[in-house]
Amino acid sequence: MRTDEIGNVLGFLPEAHLGEGSTGLIVVLSAHLDTVFPADTPLAPLVNGDRLEAPGACDNAAGVIGMLAIAHALLHAKFEAPVSLLFLANVGEEGEGDLRGVRHLYKEEALAGRIAAHVVLDGAGAESAVTQALGSKRYQVVISGPGGHSFTDAGTPNPIAALASALAAIAETPLPAEPRTTLNLGTIHGGTSVNSIPEIASASIDCRSIAPEQLVRLEVAVHRAVEDAVERANEIARGNGVAANKLLSFAIHMIGDRPAAQLPADSPLLEALRAVDRHMGIRTDLRLGSTDANIPMAQGVPALSMGAGGDGGGAHTRQEWYSDKNRETGLKRVLLLTLAMAEWAAGL
Ligand SMILES: [Zn+2]
Repeated sequence: MRTDEIGNVLGFLPEAHLGEGSTGLIVVLSAHLDTVFPADTPLAPLVNGDRLEAPGACDNAAGVIGMLAIAHALLHAKFEAPVSLLFLANVGEEGEGDLRGVRHLYKEEALAGRIAAHVVLDGAGAESAVTQALGSKRYQVVISGPGGHSFTDAGTPNPIAALASALAAIAETPLPAEPRTTLNLGTIHGGTSVNSIPEIASASIDCRSIAPEQLVRLEVAVHRAVEDAVERANEIARGNGVAANKLLSFAIHMIGDRPAAQLPADSPLLEALRAVDRHMGIRTDLRLGSTDANIPMAQGVPALSMGAGGDGGGAHTRQEWYSDKNRETGLKRVLLLTLAMAEWAAGL
């Protein structure tokens, strides 16, 4: 086992395949270590009937424990998978983590090119799988200018006015219902007092779609609207004789970027999932979500995210709970799917 420079923990079966010079395909089973809760959140796990109540108990202690259980079962049975398995406990899945743990695996690790398939364990359940990766791009728009006194500096271009007209234009961007694409103006900040021309105004914007081309289209729309609004404000200011060094400028920062993708209908991973379903008498419900599987899926690596069995609720709240009732079904499903993909990878 080893810990990489950002805190991901990697363990291989068999261990020998950890070596630098090793080659061959790998199947990844991963679970994220991070939670949405601040580090100082009080943790006093409570056992209530068959429920374990604690922040993070389900999302994603259930996934991490499930992954360790699979590794333990394979070790215990001295079972050698036909290709190496990488067990990855990764950081940075939630919110502003922006999938940085798995992103790092695919960007920085020399072994990234050897990954044949990737199963992500996230939370509870044994009836669904996320096979459509909802992409999101988040921006912070910042418009700044010299600011000034509302009366004596009147005519100086106003960042709030320019931002407001940019946001009004962005809000009118047409959004297709299919593929479902959304745009949200989330926050707005700026100004110091009612009688000051503000120096700065900013807003954050969230765009989501399963279609990468829609996200590109929205990115262009956001840039165009901001650029047009700032240019218009500057043009008026120039007309009023405002000096070139007193005009507005803008910056658009990408504050989140999760790629959109979809597991193709003929993906070997879907085929394996259906075979496991048949064997176990389950009918997996295929869902849309934003998970660690977004990263491999967007790179064409067969990947999905599924629960590690049992039941849970209250995710992302302090009332979160997990129950290990019928967890065996979920674990069996994960184990069979992982080994089926190892079998498939061995034949490549
Ligand atoms: Zn999670």
